Amino acid sequence: MSADQTRDGYFGEFGGSFIPPMLQEAMDYLSKQFYTFKDDPEFNRELDYYLKEYVGRENPLTYAEQLTRSWGGAKIYLKREDLNHTGAHKINNVVGQILLAKRMGAKRVIAETGAGQHGVATATACAMFDMECVIYMGAEDTRRQALNVFRMELLGAKVVPVTKGQARLKDAVDEALNDLVENYKNTFYLLGSAVGPHPFPTMVKHFQSVVSKESKKQILEKEGRLPDAILACVGGGSNAIGAFAHYIDEPSVRLIGVEPELAPTMTEGVPGIIHGFRCLVLLDEEGNPKPTYSIAAGLDYPGIGPEHSHLKTSGRAEYVTVSNEEVLAAFQELSRTEGIIPALESAHAVAHAKKIAPSMSPEQILIINLSGRGDKDVEQVFHMLKK
Ligand SMILES: *Cc1c(COP(=O)(O)O)cnc(C)c1O
Repeated sequence: MSADQTRDGYFGEFGGSFIPPMLQEAMDYLSKQFYTFKDDPEFNRELDYYLKEYVGRENPLTYAEQLTRSWGGAKIYLKREDLNHTGAHKINNVVGQILLAKRMGAKRVIAETGAGQHGVATATACAMFDMECVIYMGAEDTRRQALNVFRMELLGAKVVPVTKGQARLKDAVDEALNDLVENYKNTFYLLGSAVGPHPFPTMVKHFQSVVSKESKKQILEKEGRLPDAILACVGGGSNAIGAFAHYIDEPSVRLIGVEPELAPTMTEGVPGIIHGFRCLVLLDEEGNPKPTYSIAAGLDYPGIGPEHSHLKTSGRAEYVTVSNEEVLAAFQELSRTEGIIPALESAHAVAHAKKIAPSMSPEQILIINLSGRGDKDVEQVFHMLKK
């Protein structure tokens, strides 16, 4: 599905925009600018330049020889988003949106962050592009992620602790949106995943689809054929939609999203509206978004991007869950066998690959999207394994 076909922001029954009129005005303005620049040759030249020189693209599609031998089935390839500057896929979207913000004449960038990863990626790019940067973060999260707050400040960002509500991510999003309503003529809201009202899911996909654009070219060069399946972890869904994008219209390629057992949005979610868009969402008995829990902070979200919701209900993609134990085992196994310490989020995809690879034939190919590196998680895993 091309971005133009989804210009209204709907993917089947999901997506759209359910927000107050003031905010809708800001979204309409953003949409107009995005559709103006996304196919502009000069804009894309600039984007390619920074993806190469700053992010370090293209990153490799590494053949995981040891893992393939030890699992004894399909050939395993790893798409190495962990090798990007700042260590994950988030920077792809951040650089794209910052360049758009610049074209729109914005002087100020705001963002929400939960665990701090999107905040750090945003602060990084704002430093480089000399933009004023304000990061809204739940006060509760600023305490738990003090080091990431320091990182953002080191990069020149102002971190605003939000004390309203439960002082968590949802409250940080609300504060950022209030700021945007007031200031949208000179302020750009840089959203971190393929969620939110239109045009965010379409825009984030657009900037993350560089992942599958590269992997498709790389696998054709290496193997002369398409892979049999792509696996990616899903939180809000940005690394997965980027990893799937160029294969959605290739019916022979299975698309598999992997989520935590304790945040099973796709396997147990029902249609509903959160954060201004319609998607599959986990609700409690009262119909409120259900608290989720994942050892990978980046996957802790009760909703999921609207396109994933559609890919699931239409049957084009499959979504599965893995347990914390399986994730911890995969984290260690990839470290030991390939010398690559994955992010705990990415280890979800590795854990499911381990379940399906052995029953596949050696001619078959799996690509695991390694969304990020695990340096940020080493201390947490240390404490979990010590117990
Ligand atoms: C943030 C993050 C995720 C989850 O976000 P998506 O939008 O679902 O991709 C996954 N992996 C890593 C390394 C992250 O930092």
